[in-house]
Amino acid sequence: MSKKELTLFENTQAQLDAAANLLGLEPNIHAILREPMRELHVSIPVRMDNGIAKIFKGFRVHHNNARGPCKGGIRFHPDETIDTIRSLAAWMTWKCAVADIPFGGGKGGVICNPKEMSPGEIERLSRGYIDAIWEFIGPDKDIPAPDVYTNPQIMAWMMDEYTKLGGYSCPGVITGKPVALGGSLGRGDATARGGLFTIIETAKHLNIDLSLATVTVHGYGNAGSHIAILLNSILGCKIVAVGDSKGGIYNKRGLDPHKVLQHKGETGSVTNFLQAENIGNDELLELDVDILCPSALENTITQANASKIKAKIVAELANGPTTPEADEVLFHNRVFVIPDFLCNAGGVIVSYFEWVQNTYNYYWDKDEVHQRLSKKMTKAFQDVLSESLKRNVNMRQSAHVVAVSRVAEAMRLRGWV
Ligand code: GLU
Repeated sequence: MSKKELTLFENTQAQLDAAANLLGLEPNIHAILREPMRELHVSIPVRMDNGIAKIFKGFRVHHNNARGPCKGGIRFHPDETIDTIRSLAAWMTWKCAVADIPFGGGKGGVICNPKEMSPGEIERLSRGYIDAIWEFIGPDKDIPAPDVYTNPQIMAWMMDEYTKLGGYSCPGVITGKPVALGGSLGRGDATARGGLFTIIETAKHLNIDLSLATVTVHGYGNAGSHIAILLNSILGCKIVAVGDSKGGIYNKRGLDPHKVLQHKGETGSVTNFLQAENIGNDELLELDVDILCPSALENTITQANASKIKAKIVAELANGPTTPEADEVLFHNRVFVIPDFLCNAGGVIVSYFEWVQNTYNYYWDKDEVHQRLSKKMTKAFQDVLSESLKRNVNMRQSAHVVAVSRVAEAMRLRGWV
């Protein structure tokens, strides 16, 4: 890292600083929001299949709980750092506020590579992580969920471990569980479906006919594969390219997103798909399409490629895919960016629905989940769009303004400042 280069969390603080400036936020509230409220660092011993114990490092961060218990996913990733988790926790605070759900922001992570671990090792790590953090979480304290490289099965093991430690049934401690264990219908594709509603609203605003739109999807995990499927099956968009960590594939006549997903399931990657040509991820991001959906990790659109992005709409299904320098270039080039914590809020919104259903022990059908999700996402999008038009700032700045003002109001009312 060069001297001038900021870390992800420093960039996150800078984004807050800009919003605080626009809002004329009281310095005390601003100072509190610049730092996480608390963070837990843990070492997790796991007996590996060869009998030798390995110690994994893990974190759980609470950024702010003025609007309700902390909420946010758990990532299992070899490159995880506390700096990244701090940013992701802060973005969860903004995400829950912009979606107007009664949660604050939290995030967790374990430094590990689940792609190189057996299911038994992953289960023991998942249970060990909960053993280490269980006093830090709870259905009215902090409610984890899936994120990068974690899934409903992992949530099931974690919920089971928490339940055993507490000695009572507690499905509401974690969301994104399998439906058979108190998960919500519609949680599986909720992140992408929420993003779909924001793309529909954007297209109305920009007067774009989505049935003729071409799309590139970067990242083909939960968010990426589902957005490709939904855009294609519901709106008739043509998915011309998709990519994952191993590379991309392109077919100008369009790809069948279900078949690509099947191929990835069989081979571990979207690359070498028969009905397409392989392309590099750099080339993939710069394709001339209507919609680009970065759906993988942070720092995908950077100063190095921002000026070459030709998409009219960038729908950020990932958290933090665009760096601040790239953001300015995109805004200058009139690329309409649907910022991450607005675009991908569908996941946590349906997590909230799951938590409500767990609390009431009464479960909704899928249509009800979809209708409520549509209402929440459309309202969140319109709130951010009108603030952006009113203040003549980009959508990310206006999303910060909306979120930060809501969190600040809760802090004032609680008498924290
Ligand atoms: N990990 C997802 C996110 O970043 C979902 C969080 C949740 O459902 O709590 O929004």
